[in-house]
Amino acid sequence: MTKILAITNQKGGVGKTTTSVNLAASLAASGKRVLLVDLDPQGNATMGSGTNKQTVKVTIYHVLLGDATIEEARVSNPKGKYDLIPANRDLAGAEVEMVNFPQREARLKLALESIQESYDYVLIDCPPALNLLTLNGLCAAHAVMIPMQCEYYALEGLSDLVNTIKRVRSNFNPTLRIEGLLRTMFDPRNILAQQVSDQLQQHFGDKVYRTVIPRNVRLAEAPGFGLPVLYHDGQSKGAQAYLDLAKEILSA
Ligand code: ATP
Ligand code: MG
Repeated sequence: MTKILAITNQKGGVGKTTTSVNLAASLAASGKRVLLVDLDPQGNATMGSGTNKQTVKVTIYHVLLGDATIEEARVSNPKGKYDLIPANRDLAGAEVEMVNFPQREARLKLALESIQESYDYVLIDCPPALNLLTLNGLCAAHAVMIPMQCEYYALEGLSDLVNTIKRVRSNFNPTLRIEGLLRTMFDPRNILAQQVSDQLQQHFGDKVYRTVIPRNVRLAEAPGFGLPVLYHDGQSKGAQAYLDLAKEILSA
């Protein structure tokens, strides 16, 4: 059965896109059929997957507005071995344009229905906001993956996100679960990071993935080449960490 995962955190720069792109590539490397949906007007997952957001013609924006089918927007990505639904800055206008649409929160869910059976995993890279785009991601998803940095304010932001998920559950998507919390850009020598990590485990228990993503420069470089880190430097700690994460998810 297809599993649809929204990768979300309203906090910016916590590793959502890095996780989306590299988990997509790692799951695909394990032989899974993967679709990555870029749901962020920044288009970072699009660029990081080797697709030029400036020149791409059909994007998730056209799909959400009903101007194109999701098949028309799909890009096969031989480098990462997963497929992509791209995004660019056009998407920033979607929120306003969808306001009067019926079921405006379910546009992505409905769009995915025709192709999701072709995939084992659909990953949705959400923007850093609790807006209508993110709501579309949460309504389409079976579960949520929350990347986070182990910093002081991270826990505060997390309770807002957990409350949002509860509200989405009671209003739109009753079976939405938290799949897991992922510690990103982790530096084990940082005492505060250790403390926050411990608190996270006390509070969320086995919802916290065992796999920890270390801070690794190869992960930051790879998008510049339009490649998942696996195909930029497969031996790097970052590549190995995302392969471990894929393994952990597949064995759950
Ligand atoms: P936004 O909220 O803007 O969408 P994001 O949550 O998607 O951001 P990323 O874009 O994945 O976060 O990461 C933010 C920055 O940190 C990027 O420059 C990325 O290359 C870098 N980065 C992410 N993870 C790591 C890591 N494990 N090691 C080193 N750099 C990282
Ligand atoms: Mg991002």
